[in-house]
Amino acid sequence: MSAVEALESARAVGVHVEIQGDELLLEATSVPPTAVLEAISRHKTEIIALLRPSRDGWSAADWQGFFDERAGIAEFDGGLSRREAEVQAFACCVVEWLNRNPERSQPGCCLACGGREKGHDALLPFGIEPAGHVWLHGHCWAAWYAERKAKAASALRVMGIVTPVVCPTTKRLSSIDVSGQSWQKTYLPACGK
Ligand SMILES: [Zn+2]
Repeated sequence: MSAVEALESARAVGVHVEIQGDELLLEATSVPPTAVLEAISRHKTEIIALLRPSRDGWSAADWQGFFDERAGIAEFDGGLSRREAEVQAFACCVVEWLNRNPERSQPGCCLACGGREKGHDALLPFGIEPAGHVWLHGHCWAAWYAERKAKAASALRVMGIVTPVVCPTTKRLSSIDVSGQSWQKTYLPACGK
């Protein structure tokens, strides 16, 4: 099992994983399966690296904060249901990721198909300054953009941003001290109880 799979298996059973300093903090409503905890423990250094800010400068916590803010605005100011608000917040995260992770290419060659400009098949610049442009045939843009959005969704998934998200009341379960193998079990009462 890879670090990403360990992370996803934890989230699949309702465990929220975040980094706090040099530690991994896990939150869950009930004690997760031992296999999940062992996988997290085994890959904790890699998981911490995954959740740290990437080249776009945002950590998993930054993405979660942005998602929560967008969902809150859509729900409370926009009057959407929580589910609709989270779908919209996810779309905002995808756009933000695309803006923060721009691509650029040299003119004269289509980044998608590798082909050159031919008569009726012009190459067009897509994108905005100062990130630069990507050169594509007009008919190659849709597939290229769909692939970019899939890449964004995949990167966001690693950061724990998926849609729609169910937000159960969580309580702090345990934390892993990266410097050692010991578990600091810090069972706290569930929020609001
Ligand atoms: Zn093309």
